[in-house]
Amino acid sequence: MHILVTNDDGVQAPGLLALAQAVRDLGTVTVFAPDRNWSASGHVKTMDRPLRARQVTLSDGSPALTTDGAPSDSVALALLGVVKEKIDLVLSGINPHENIGHDVTYSGTVTAAMEAVIGGVPGIAVSLNSPEEHLDPLDYSTAARVARRVAQKALAGGLPEGVLLNVNVPYLKDDEIKGYAVTRQGLRLYRDELDARKDPRGKPYYWIGGDFPTGVIEEGTDFGALKAGYVSITPLQLDLTAREAMERLRKWEW
Ligand code: MN
Repeated sequence: MHILVTNDDGVQAPGLLALAQAVRDLGTVTVFAPDRNWSASGHVKTMDRPLRARQVTLSDGSPALTTDGAPSDSVALALLGVVKEKIDLVLSGINPHENIGHDVTYSGTVTAAMEAVIGGVPGIAVSLNSPEEHLDPLDYSTAARVARRVAQKALAGGLPEGVLLNVNVPYLKDDEIKGYAVTRQGLRLYRDELDARKDPRGKPYYWIGGDFPTGVIEEGTDFGALKAGYVSITPLQLDLTAREAMERLRKWEW
């Protein structure tokens, strides 16, 4: 088995190393990730400039590939032939914050797994529901073991065609995790606020600021599962059609 490991936090992020190390015994692992942080960059295809790929060394001494492109570019480059050997599974993460609800369209972690599906390869995104404020380095060990288990299951059982998995792991120790829950996307509550400022020449500029988003705690959803202490596994597909809306729209006079 050949597993491609990527992320959206940059190739030297600790979550990526934890993920790569956790799955090394499942097969050959190739790490190919962006050279900087692309969090909340969404699904990107870079077409207005060339992309570079180069070799780097991770902090455990293992080799990796990096690119100046986005997470989804990394996956596309790998699947299109920059990585010569056939890839059986793409793992993206471990993102230091959860990716739930509407986050999936912003998330570089999740959209890297979406790119895998577009390339015809199963994709799994793994994110950690870490505490909002933490000063010490995050402990990725539980999430890494969870990722290994989900990867093993996906390699053994195969994912349904066109389906990626969005996995979110509570920030708990192994024996505190209640289990695995297959969930649907919940509702994210963003608390974005406009922070308008002036540059030294008096011209306005803006930050999208505000508090870290929260979510609606509802049973059966990603956020509900996390809050109840379960690993949340949400199968996602790229078909975003609002099927219930189709009939109503057809009734309009076109
Ligand atoms: Mn990130």
